[in-house]
Order: sequence, then C-alpha cells, then structure tokens
Amino acid sequence: MKIVVCIKQVPGSNRVTFDPVTHNLVREGMAGRMNPFDENAIEAAVRLREQVGGEVVLLSMGPDATKETLHDGMAMGADAAYLLSSRAFAGSDTLATGYVLDQAIRKIGDVDLILFGRQAVDADTGQVGPIVATELDLPQATFAAKIKPLDDQHVVVNRDLGAVTQTVQLTLPAVITVRAEANQPRYESPVAIQQSLTKPLTTWTDQDLTLDTHRIGQAGSPTIVRKVYAPDKATRAAKPLPQEPKAAAKALLDILQAQGLL
Ligand SMILES: Cc1cc2nc3c(=O)[nH]c(=O)nc-3n(C[C@H](O)[C@H](O)[C@H](O)COP(=O)(O)OP(=O)(O)OC[C@H]3O[C@@H](n4cnc5c(N)ncnc54)[C@H](O)[C@@H]3O)c2cc1C
Repeated sequence: MKIVVCIKQVPGSNRVTFDPVTHNLVREGMAGRMNPFDENAIEAAVRLREQVGGEVVLLSMGPDATKETLHDGMAMGADAAYLLSSRAFAGSDTLATGYVLDQAIRKIGDVDLILFGRQAVDADTGQVGPIVATELDLPQATFAAKIKPLDDQHVVVNRDLGAVTQTVQLTLPAVITVRAEANQPRYESPVAIQQSLTKPLTTWTDQDLTLDTHRIGQAGSPTIVRKVYAPDKATRAAKPLPQEPKAAAKALLDILQAQGLL
C-alpha cells in the first residue's frame, strides 16, 4: 500500500507574529514543529505499512525550514518525503493549499491512501483534507479513530464523532483525516533520527508541478483573513452579601432590581 501523509509545520511556541497587511502568520525565521495531529497520521500510516507492506511518503507545503519537520516524520518511520516550497505558494488559503497538494499527489502517482491530521493547530480549519479529497474526486472519512485494512481494495474506518461512533468502509484510493485518539505516536529513537537523515527528501517548486497560477498563493486565494485577535475574556466577579440576614436579603433585592430581573 502506498500511503501519502500530508503534514504541516506549525509554530513551536505561542509567540507568533502576523503580517500587518495580509494577516498571515509570519513563518520566516520561526521555530517550527510538526502539527501534533499529523504525528497521529504518520503513526497510523506506519502501522498500516507494518500490517500490509508498502511505503509511507510524507508531503508538506511550506518554507525551507519545514525540512526539519519532514526529517522528524521520517524518524518516526516514513520512508521518503516531498517538500513543496516556493514564493509562489506564500499566502495560500486552504483552497489553494489543497490544490497544490492535490497536484503533487498526482505527480507522486499510484497512491492508495492519503492521510491528514484532524486539523492544524495554528489556523484550525480542518479543511485541507476534505479539499484534497474533492480535488482528487476520492472517497473520504474524517475524524478517524481506527483504520483497519480489509483487503487490497478497501479499508474500514471508525469515525469518532463525540456522541456517536460511525464505521465506514472506503474503496481505495481514499482520503482519511486522523484523530489524536487513533494511536500513541512512537518515540523517535536516536538511531531512527540518524537514519532519517539518509532517507530521500525531494523539493519541488511551482515549476515542478502542473499548476494553474491563478489558483495558488495569496492572489489565488479567495479567503481573506480580515482580523486576527484574542477576544477579551469575560470576567465574573463574586460579590459578598452582608452577614446579617435582613441586610443580605435587601442587598440581593437591590442587585436583582438593578439588573432588571425583578
Ligand atoms: C490565524 C490564521 C487563520 C487562518 N484562517 C484561514 C481560514 O479561515 N481559511 C483559509 O482558507 N485559510 C486560513 N488561513 C490560512 C491557512 O493557514 C492555510 O491555508 C493553511 O495552509 C491550511 O489551513 P489550516 O492550517 O487550517 O489546515 P487544516 O485544514 O486545519 O489542516 C488539516 C490537515 O491538513 C494537512 N495540511 C494543512 N496544511 C498543510 C500544508 N501546508 N502542507 C501539507 N499538509 C497540510 C495536515 O495534515 C493537517 O493536519 C489562516 C491562517 C492563519 C495564520
């Protein structure tokens, strides 16, 4: 089974800055780490490969520093990695990101399964997996808590939707987004980290893919982030009533009347 796992590098700390004009995250020079949910997607892929054989290929669109995250993923057991990196991709929204990933997956070729994390923890949309499935016209299952290979044409997925669990059967090739509950990602041993440095990592720019230039980057992105801000936290303050019962009752009545509740 040939499995592509799409992974995103996200900020390694909460101290992030935003471009004042585009409102996009400034990724240049930012220390990054793998999106936590993507670790679960890699672990799920490696376990599937251990059961049925095949290969696990990582795919990420991002700046050059994303190579570090791709090496981390290969230390977790992936066999190879592709980085999609170009100024032309900067400022892409989820639609443009999904489109570029879709074109890269077509170029990788002969893919049976495409795994995503449930969502990225920096922008939190959870849209990229479903968009790639739509672009590739493939069946998809989101929120997977369990993936079981049935035969070389099908997988069975348990979707954990909180109140209910749904079991679906997908015909391959297919797209799955993986929940944190699916597994415990494995520890990267020093030997595995060393081995990851010798695994193939290929970089493709926009010139290496067949792309409609009107569908990529800031200009090709119909979503505009208008404002990014932390909402004021609503504060609740307790007000003590007087100890003496009559005074307490009067104070309470005054408060209720002042609030228009009586
Ligand atoms: C504060 C902020 C808010 C934003 N809001 C929006 C918005 O509302 N709408 C919008 O269209 N864009 C938005 N963006 C842009 C957004 O960050 C990018 O489009 C991003 O590439 C994908 O969106 P996401 O992070 O929400 O990914 P999600 O859809 O949450 O990611 C799901 C999974 O897709 C995969 N994935 C995501 N990005 C990549 C990648 N670059 N390479 C490989 N795999 C990937 C990973 O497996 C990930 O777990 C926002 C950016 C910021 C900084």
